[in-house]
Amino acid sequence: MQVNEILTLDQETNPWAAQEARFNEAAEKLGLEEGLQKVLRQPSREIIVHFPVLMDNGKIEVFTGYRVQHSMARGPAKGGIRYSPDVSLDEVRALASWMTWKCAVVNIPFGGAKGGVICDPHKMSQGELERLTRRFTAELMEFIGPEKDIPAPDINTNEQTMAWIMDTYSMHMRQTVTAVVTGKPVNIGGSRGRTAATGRGLSVVCDEALKHLGIAREGCKVIVQGFGNVGSNAAKLLCEKGYDVIGIAEHDGGVYNANGLDIHALLKYKQQAGTVVGFKDAEAVDPLELLTWKTDILLPAATENVITSRNAERIQARILCEGANGPTTPIADEILADKKIFVIPDIMANAGGVTTSYFEWVQDRMGLFWTEEEVNARLDKTMAESFADVVRYAQAHNVNNRIAAYMLAIDRVAYNIRQRGIYA
Ligand code: GLU
Repeated sequence: MQVNEILTLDQETNPWAAQEARFNEAAEKLGLEEGLQKVLRQPSREIIVHFPVLMDNGKIEVFTGYRVQHSMARGPAKGGIRYSPDVSLDEVRALASWMTWKCAVVNIPFGGAKGGVICDPHKMSQGELERLTRRFTAELMEFIGPEKDIPAPDINTNEQTMAWIMDTYSMHMRQTVTAVVTGKPVNIGGSRGRTAATGRGLSVVCDEALKHLGIAREGCKVIVQGFGNVGSNAAKLLCEKGYDVIGIAEHDGGVYNANGLDIHALLKYKQQAGTVVGFKDAEAVDPLELLTWKTDILLPAATENVITSRNAERIQARILCEGANGPTTPIADEILADKKIFVIPDIMANAGGVTTSYFEWVQDRMGLFWTEEEVNARLDKTMAESFADVVRYAQAHNVNNRIAAYMLAIDRVAYNIRQRGIYA
């Protein structure tokens, strides 16, 4: 995809095309040899399954699921599984390759994968979700495993989903295999600190960006989109560090308070009400408009394609910190660059989740578990070092942070492939 072509919004927001545009630019800047470009341009394996699930009404429904393994050059494939009606093969492909780049940016020994099932989890019972998860796991038996491909939570999946995957895999293997998934409950092989890890990593890179740009933390204003696991933990940690989280945009409404929202109270409110809408110490605002309001940091933590050619011009943030995967289209990137907005790209900013997943996998394999302080200290160090690596790369090669992160990642993956040699 050429970003200067006139594109329809559908073309602009195709995640696979967005991944490819960044890959092409970074590979070219790196002078990556043609053969390796071909190898890394395609995922190495794409699994599509159609499988039956017994629904509560006694009927059988057939669901479609995907698992895409983009690269295993640096180690077993790694990445989450999402449940959503909008899941598509192109989306899962893009997310799988983003996992390859993300793991390389933070320098952990994993390749990249992603999974998804087309379903509407909000319309399904716990029993239906459990049966769907178990049958999907059974379909993937020969493809996943601690040394092959290790799933984790993503949109609409959580530690309960991971517990079911671990149990189903273990039943088939006739032994408990905790390291087959990460993001499990702590008492069955999960890591302390994993649930909040993506949010925590985001707060660390915000700190680093402020230091880099010479902006004070006190009074630094933040608008967060999404109040799920990633957005709520990021908002909570930023608030505890002294940032003013002034706005939260959710799919069903936004809340705003120019003096800073009480995030702990908002979390409690959402737990009871199931929404942020109606929270009393805030103004009700349009959630999409909120993204364009004046703030120091804008932190999208929901889904893809929220910053596009349609609204990028109106973004007023000084820093864009990407909690979601793929929130910004390549066309929007160019607009943000013209506006001199400092972008902390998704494959760097939200890598805290997979980093603590790596710690979980290590702890499972050792059978020895760290304290939350130990896990967090390792995470903070990894995030701060990776941020510095990306910024250094951007300066050295005179490119923006996103292309720098891709270049750094592609360079690391390519190095491993050259060393291993290509079995062609
Ligand atoms: N789903 C998360 C991500 O997109 C975490 C993946 C993992 O822990 O493997 O980074």
